[in-house]
Amino acid sequence: MKIIGYAAQSATAPLAPFSFERRALRPNDVAMEILYCGVCHSDLHQARNDWGFSRYPLVPGHEIVGRVSEVGSEVSRHKVGDLVAVGCMVDSCQVCDQCRKGDEQLCREHHTQTYNDRDRVTGETTYGGYAKHLVARQEFVLRLPQGLDPSRAAPLLCAGITTYSPLRTWNVGPGSRVGVIGLGGLGHMAVKLAVGLGAQVTVLSRSADKRSDALALGAHGLLVSSDAQAMAAAQCAFDLIIDTVPVRHDVSPYMPLLDVDGTLVIVGQVGPIDELVTIPLILGRRRLAGSVIGGIAETQEMLDFCAQKNILPECEMIRMEQINEAFERMERSDVRYRFVIDMASLPSSYAWS
Ligand SMILES: [Zn+2]
Ligand SMILES: [Zn+2]
Repeated sequence: MKIIGYAAQSATAPLAPFSFERRALRPNDVAMEILYCGVCHSDLHQARNDWGFSRYPLVPGHEIVGRVSEVGSEVSRHKVGDLVAVGCMVDSCQVCDQCRKGDEQLCREHHTQTYNDRDRVTGETTYGGYAKHLVARQEFVLRLPQGLDPSRAAPLLCAGITTYSPLRTWNVGPGSRVGVIGLGGLGHMAVKLAVGLGAQVTVLSRSADKRSDALALGAHGLLVSSDAQAMAAAQCAFDLIIDTVPVRHDVSPYMPLLDVDGTLVIVGQVGPIDELVTIPLILGRRRLAGSVIGGIAETQEMLDFCAQKNILPECEMIRMEQINEAFERMERSDVRYRFVIDMASLPSSYAWS
C-alpha cells in the first residue's frame, strides 16, 4: 500500500511530504485510516536525533486514532469501520514473562516502537502516525471506547498512559497525595488522571504563574518550588510525585517532599539528570523510580477509564503542514497542552507520488 506521510530526511531537515509503502496485511494485521495524531515531545527529539538512534527517513507519531479500513483473515478483535487507537508500540515477543503478564512495554526482547524501529518479521523501518494510514498487528490495536471524543483522544496513547501507569503501579486512589512536576503534555494528563482516581493533587512549579491553569485542570493546589519556606512546609506531604520534565534537571529538592516510602517517578527526561543528594532517600526510605508507557491491557483500561470519567487531553488542532511550526512552539513550551494533527489536512496523494 503506497501512502503519504510527513518525514524528516535528516536531523536538520524540516518535516516534509514523503511517499512510502505500508506492508501488505498479514493474517493478524489491522489497517486503519489515521484520523488524528498527537504530537509528542519525543517526536521532536527523534526527528532531530537528540537520542542518537534515529534512522531516516523518519515518520514520527505514536498517538494515533484511526478507523479500521481492512483486516487480515485471522483478525477477531476489530472490524472495518471501528474507531481504534495505536500508541508507542506495535509489537513485542508475546511469550516472555513480561509480555505474558501484560507488560509488553518491558518485553525482554524489547517492544517494537511504532516508528524509528524495525519490524520483527521483515526488519523494515517502522513509520509512525504522521501519515494517512497505518498497519499494525491486532494485539497492539486498542478499541476507542464510545463516548471518548476521537478528535481529542490521541494524546492519551502516549501522554495519557505514560502518566496513568505510574498512578496505577503506586496504587493511587482516594486519599493519595500526588505531586506533578511540569505542566505540559504529560503533566496536564497526570493532573487530570490523578484527580479522576480520587487523589489530592498538587502541581509543583518554579513560579506561581501556572496556579490558575493548574486549578482549571482540576489540581487542588500549586506549590512554588523556588519558595524555600513553602518547600520546607511541604516536607513529607506526598505519597507519589510524577516528574514530567523532559530536560536535564535536579530532582534532589523534591525528595524531602515525599513521605516515608514515597516515590518520585521520572517519566519525562530520557538521559542524565543532575547529581542526586541521597540523604533524603536513605533517611526517609524514599524512592526514585522510572516508568515507561504501560502495557496494552493497562492502556485499554486507561481509555475506558477516561471515557467513563470524561477525561480528555487539552488539545490544539493543527494541519499537517503546520508541524514544523508546532515543533518550534513545543520547544518554547508554547502549547496548551498538546498539538493534535487533523489528518484530513494531509492530501491522499501528491502530484509527484
Ligand atoms: Zn510520546
Ligand atoms: Zn516479550
